Amino acid sequence: MTKADPVAEIDELQTELCVLESHLQRLLHRIRQNDAKLYRFHTLETELLALNSLRELVEHVLDDTRADFELDFVTLTLVDRKGELRQFLQEDGLSPDSLPELILTQDDRTLQLWFGRVHRPYLGTCKSKHELVFPYEETPASIALLPLVRRGELLGSLNLGSVETTRFTYGMATDFLDRLRAVLSVCLENTLNFEMLRRTSLIDTLTGVNNRRFFEQRLSEEIGRAQRTGEPLTCLFLDIDHFKRINDSYGHQTGDLVLAEVAHEIKAMLRNNDVLARYGGEEFVALLSGADLPRGIEVAERIRSRIEKLRIVDHNHRSISVTLSIGVSEYDPKLVSPMSETDQQRFLELADQALYVAKRGGRNRVESGGTFSREPAVVQKAG
Ligand code: GH3
Ligand code: MG
Ligand code: MG
Repeated sequence: MTKADPVAEIDELQTELCVLESHLQRLLHRIRQNDAKLYRFHTLETELLALNSLRELVEHVLDDTRADFELDFVTLTLVDRKGELRQFLQEDGLSPDSLPELILTQDDRTLQLWFGRVHRPYLGTCKSKHELVFPYEETPASIALLPLVRRGELLGSLNLGSVETTRFTYGMATDFLDRLRAVLSVCLENTLNFEMLRRTSLIDTLTGVNNRRFFEQRLSEEIGRAQRTGEPLTCLFLDIDHFKRINDSYGHQTGDLVLAEVAHEIKAMLRNNDVLARYGGEEFVALLSGADLPRGIEVAERIRSRIEKLRIVDHNHRSISVTLSIGVSEYDPKLVSPMSETDQQRFLELADQALYVAKRGGRNRVESGGTFSREPAVVQKAG
């Protein structure tokens, strides 16, 4: 047996230590890089969420995404069927024609072809057909085309390009990109909705919720959506009980405050994509997309119960409580389609009639008007 050479052994250990250390350094470097990426992403996300206008959004996306993610090319495609987006930007002092990175397209067929029916992002080499979204002399070596989609509708795409061939490759992990496109899709939809509202004043100033005009517009849109998705739509009519007494006992100003607080509470109980509007006086109407009758009744019951427990303190420190009566009706696109104007009104009337039943039944309750059908209601004979 040969005796081990202690010097050689120490040398060997030191070499191993060096290798380990460099491994560790590389790992640490990767962790720091990911941390920084996460931080930049978080900042971008927070900023995007705070934006109010389309101009701000476009400028932010184009400038910050490129800088934050160290990209060579960033462009944004937006589907602008009616030329409204062009108008929004122009009204805010930004001429879309002066911005080659922004591509407004009236026709989304090309994008639909790229992303397919499931709206899958494209990662890989830049082909000649992609020059449409990279209108530069130098073409990127690798690209990521991220479809921006909300509720099944293609709003546009965020197009990232790099001079490095390995930056975006087919099949690579896309967690960050998926998150970016999800956040951007939501922000884009919000901004577009906000822009529409800003221009058409469809908000009730006292309560801050939408007004009846907005509701009338949305009703046929929501019915159309239900028909496309095959999912039901539920309508709620909500009326404050004995509201006249509030005005009579506490004054009109307190009445106004109560209206605003109740509207606020109802809105808080609904999802973002539900429609809530002040239908008139102290009556509200809501459309719950994707909700069937039992679900609509459940939501109505939760709202009723919350309002019952609510205590509103007015400017004279008086604590006021109110109750709501609610009527519910359902539209099932599988039963009736298409819906004429009259059919749509009758779907609302079902909920309105149920509200009337709730009032007669003693108030502070939820009643169902059932599912809309064109068949005349069967009159049940007593006995
Ligand atoms: P019910 O339980 O049957 O619904 O009784 P109600 O008193 O709530 O209903 P009624 O229709 O008799 O009265 C509604 C009252 O709401 C009368 C009207 O002056 C008041 N009102 C309507 N719009 C406003 C408003 O903008 N501000 C205030 N303060 N009151 C309003
Ligand atoms: Mg009332
Ligand atoms: Mg009323």
